[in-house]
Amino acid sequence: MTEEIIDLSRLDSFVNNNLQIQCEMGKTLPISLFLKAVEHAPVAISITDRKANILYINKAFTDVTGYVACEIIGENESKLSAKSTPREVYQTLWKTISQKEVWQGQLVNCHKNGQRYLADLTISPMLDESGAISHYIGMHRDITQSHQAGQLVDNQKQLIESVVNGSPVAMVVLDADHKIILDNQKYKMLVSDMGMPEPALYFIAALQEEMPDLWVSKRNFNQREVRFEGTGQGRTRWFYCSGNWFSEDDTDADNYFTKHTNSYLLLSLNDVTLQRRQQEKMHLQTLRNILAEEEQIRSIRETLLGAMHQIRQPMNQIGAAIQIMAQRNDSQNHALKELLNQVQRMGEETLATLQLCVPEIPETAVIPVNLNQLLHEVLMLYSHTFLANGVIIDWLPTAILPSILGSENKLRMLFKQLLDNAVDAMNRAGSKERYIKISTSVSEKWVNVSIADSGPGIPANQHSKVFEPFFTTQNMGGIQAGMGLVMAREIVSQHNGIIIIDPVYTDGCCWSISFPFDKKSFRTDS
Ligand code: FAD
Repeated sequence: MTEEIIDLSRLDSFVNNNLQIQCEMGKTLPISLFLKAVEHAPVAISITDRKANILYINKAFTDVTGYVACEIIGENESKLSAKSTPREVYQTLWKTISQKEVWQGQLVNCHKNGQRYLADLTISPMLDESGAISHYIGMHRDITQSHQAGQLVDNQKQLIESVVNGSPVAMVVLDADHKIILDNQKYKMLVSDMGMPEPALYFIAALQEEMPDLWVSKRNFNQREVRFEGTGQGRTRWFYCSGNWFSEDDTDADNYFTKHTNSYLLLSLNDVTLQRRQQEKMHLQTLRNILAEEEQIRSIRETLLGAMHQIRQPMNQIGAAIQIMAQRNDSQNHALKELLNQVQRMGEETLATLQLCVPEIPETAVIPVNLNQLLHEVLMLYSHTFLANGVIIDWLPTAILPSILGSENKLRMLFKQLLDNAVDAMNRAGSKERYIKISTSVSEKWVNVSIADSGPGIPANQHSKVFEPFFTTQNMGGIQAGMGLVMAREIVSQHNGIIIIDPVYTDGCCWSISFPFDKKSFRTDS
């Protein structure tokens, strides 16, 4: 035992060495101070010989292990072992310290009272003058509680992850820089389904169209519908997006004393495409009925306006004849003059009666309208027409389109008219290649729609004339022709928009229609 007791002369020299360093700074410290520091250190310290037989323990060692000096001095450190630490851990421990290196790790120890605890242990070899290991110094803390707390957090994290991963809704957490912090399995599937690296960013951009202050107000939102436009037909998908904000304290050491919180958005994306398609089917059926009625009204209007136009021409001639007769003061043809006046009166009466019969296009509420949605509906409604006429539809919607303020039925009539005209023109010209390219885009404050066909086109000198009543590029003329574009322009101007024929397009006719954004439809409520 005496041999194993700390050789104080060696400790002296060790301390003296330190003191020499202190002396160089012009100060000296007593050895007892070092001994007291070890004795009262708040960490369990033990000094052993080369075989881990304990030679010295401090006060904290007794607090942690339950053993007082007389019970443990001379015993091996293995007395503390709970015999459940894997063998390999000890092998590594000994391999490390035998190579004069510091070992740090965790061991399962047993308190004197039999209670197991987790020890966070550091062992340092102490060398003699010749550089050989003379002692080991062990320092350990009971980390059972912090380990349990950490484990609890890990378990909770795993539980949350398994719940989140099992959710049928895609979920993603974004930080203020739109960086994805966390996502679930469903979201990962969405990444491959949608063929884009981070679909969340697409949804955020679409939501910001509606809620520009999304990242400023940090208000929660619920069930906001976002359409995802695929490139071909039928690939459109619908999602209900909900957002929940939460904040977390910054874990940076810099912010330990000054609390700093970071905000995160939990975005849930519920794919409602199936339900939406069902709804769309029903909606399309209703629309079909409404449009059939509107179509009837439109054709009655055109027929009546055409008839009135036809009557107006001879009426004007009769009026001119009456005037000529009046100027000539032709008294001989009094009877004829009377007859003409009578015909003119009757004609005016007939025109007035016809005017009363012209049905009005029913007014519908002016609401925010998404032209992608509306055009998609129109294309679905008339898909049979395109099929029957061998027309290929190239539908190229822009991904995110702001709403315009408008009347849905009028806008539907407008696009139907332009598509009908395109199909008619391609049929009349017997175009071999028959396609209609429809695209949407956004520029500055405008939402643009382009409808381009592969028909014969309209000669440049007739570009403005086509909007005149009863003007037709068709040879046959007829009362059915010539009012469609008048109505189209009327609808566009009722929506404060612009419609022109693209002068640069040469493959057929290309309509460019632009409507101003609906600023008021930007909603920021939650
Ligand atoms: P052991 O037979 O003692 O050893 C297990 C493995 O370690 C064997 O495979 C053997 O090859 C290797 N080994 C053992 N002794 C030596 C040696 N002298 N040189 C090289 N390899 C050797 N253990 C704890 O469980 N809890 C503690 O708090 C603890 N504190 C320690 C503090 C110090 C300063 C030191 C030096 C060791 C400490 N140990 C501690 C390790 C302890 O001495 C035992 O090695 C361990 O408890 C395993 O004991 P055992 O009887 O099961 O196996």
